[in-house]
Amino acid sequence: MVLKIFLFPFIAINAVKKSDSASWKIEHQCPQCGAPVTLEETDHLLACGYCRVRLWLYTRGLFSYCFVPRSPPMEKIWFIPYWRFKGLAFSCNQEQVRHRFVDTTLCGVNFPPLPRSLGFRPQALSLKPAGSFAGSLIDGAFARPSVIPSAIRDRFLPKGHPRPSASQNRRESHQAFIGEALSLVHTPVYEKNGKVWDALLNRPLDHSSSLQVKELLFPERTPPPLTFLPVLCPQCGWDLEGSSRSVAMVCRNCQSAWCLSQGNMKWIPFGVPSQWNGDQELLPFWQLKFQFAGIELNTLEDLHRLANTSTSRQNSTLLFWIPAFKLPPRLFLQAARRATLSSFMEFRKEDLPPVTIHSATLALEEAAQCVKILLASLAVPRRRFMERMDSFSAKLEEATLSFVPFSPKAHEFVQPHLPLSVPRRALYWKRFI
Ligand SMILES: [Zn+2]
Ligand SMILES: [Zn+2]
Repeated sequence: MVLKIFLFPFIAINAVKKSDSASWKIEHQCPQCGAPVTLEETDHLLACGYCRVRLWLYTRGLFSYCFVPRSPPMEKIWFIPYWRFKGLAFSCNQEQVRHRFVDTTLCGVNFPPLPRSLGFRPQALSLKPAGSFAGSLIDGAFARPSVIPSAIRDRFLPKGHPRPSASQNRRESHQAFIGEALSLVHTPVYEKNGKVWDALLNRPLDHSSSLQVKELLFPERTPPPLTFLPVLCPQCGWDLEGSSRSVAMVCRNCQSAWCLSQGNMKWIPFGVPSQWNGDQELLPFWQLKFQFAGIELNTLEDLHRLANTSTSRQNSTLLFWIPAFKLPPRLFLQAARRATLSSFMEFRKEDLPPVTIHSATLALEEAAQCVKILLASLAVPRRRFMERMDSFSAKLEEATLSFVPFSPKAHEFVQPHLPLSVPRRALYWKRFI
């Protein structure tokens, strides 16, 4: 069997060079006092250094950002959308599960003079939220994206939208994308002297001809505004505990956990271990229950049968344990595999223990994406499993944020029962490496 290199379906995957991985800066404004607050694109929480307010950021659909020209031209500005995707793409074939980092942009309209990607521009210039900027534009419009990458179409557009055609490799590969950042980034252009000009550099685009200028007319779109939600427990008003990159937070006052969902804070069940030591720290995992169709996977025994291993636990409900934080991809799958196969620990709903709880930084929707890849990574023999990959489906039924105790060591956190060690730095890094 010839190994194939599977490409991300909409963007050629570039191995991430060091220079590509610099984080993007977004210039926000504190909605309470107006002070400038600069965040990274993976931050979900705005903490104002002046008035001390802490707000969770939310927007309908994808986050939209734009570059703002320092000296706006007299002509009408078009803000051209680029899809921004940064994250991890897993793919598997009959031999192995592979992963790639994706850190890229792709032009969202079909207009040949425009560069296909934004290149290094976002690292050199800061961005502003497009929704709050749109209203202040004197003469400018945001172009609606017309080129929609298949992975985005699959995951983020309503059902019934035309699906991309099956790829040639479909029978042999399955892909999953775990996004750290997915947004639309707009760059301004305008028309002058029969050419299309870059409004940031104030010079014509390469290869811009007068014929193409006539095409510089797009369906418009108003980017959705940002919504700011106070980081306070909706149940008791207490400060929620979490970091700037948290996707879920806990309230120690009324013992509840919350995540952002469609502009509201949504209560989510959490589980803590029945047994823990005072010197341990808790790492968050998403404990997920799926309903499978087309494959018999209801109990832990079914999973062990798939993995050609055995378990003494009979008739246990099959729960998947996916780290709710970013780890190097190999370790991420290993952690999920070991925790899921062992299901070693009794969890129950009780008070949060008085120990350090690490932030959940990987959203539930992203974690749920990798269930098929996780199954492929543990199936023995994989070839037979892969032949069935397209014939079964998994529907998420229940999700619990569960905190697994790890013992802190000098450079790592260790969970001896799995066994698993997590590099300390992985919990503070902002990406999957
Ligand atoms: Zn403020
Ligand atoms: Zn509370």
